Amino acid sequence: MVIRPGRSVASALVLASLAALVSWPVRAESWDRIGRYASLIRRAGTATMVAKDCPPSLLGAFHSQRNALLLCANNLENDPKQIWEVLAHESAHVMQHCHGAALLADYQIDEALEAIEARSKTTVQELRLYHQSQRREEIEARLVQILPPRDVEALFRRFCADRLPPDSVSAPPAVPFEAP
Ligand SMILES: [Zn+2]
Repeated sequence: MVIRPGRSVASALVLASLAALVSWPVRAESWDRIGRYASLIRRAGTATMVAKDCPPSLLGAFHSQRNALLLCANNLENDPKQIWEVLAHESAHVMQHCHGAALLADYQIDEALEAIEARSKTTVQELRLYHQSQRREEIEARLVQILPPRDVEALFRRFCADRLPPDSVSAPPAVPFEAP
């Protein structure tokens, strides 16, 4: 989940196609990447949806029982950089679901927190708002969202390899994640 601090999170129910989001007028290259990555996620069997009535604090979510990734169009700016980060973040939760376990080894968590803090101190403060039981997953997702897009895609192909057609799977990227 990506939430802004200090508000409660409710479920968002009205869903539309990601195409609605991608059709916003913007810089083409980043939108292309968002569209291609969303399509890779769909090829792995996860629905990608856009809600227009999310509660004010919610930017995106992954619903594991429905196997659906949600982006909150009403709370996201018309900014491919922000939308990419939310998509990458939620896709990390898809990877955790595919993998059935944490993406990072225990010893890598401190290193991940340092990488996140170097990028944004606010993000580390936000992580404290999550319940202990969700913190680990959120640390991993926040690390994924700041990786270069190529690495995010490569991690997805690796952790969700079993769900992708064979020609979609590529070699592992050079990023510090343990083998699935
Ligand atoms: Zn999350």
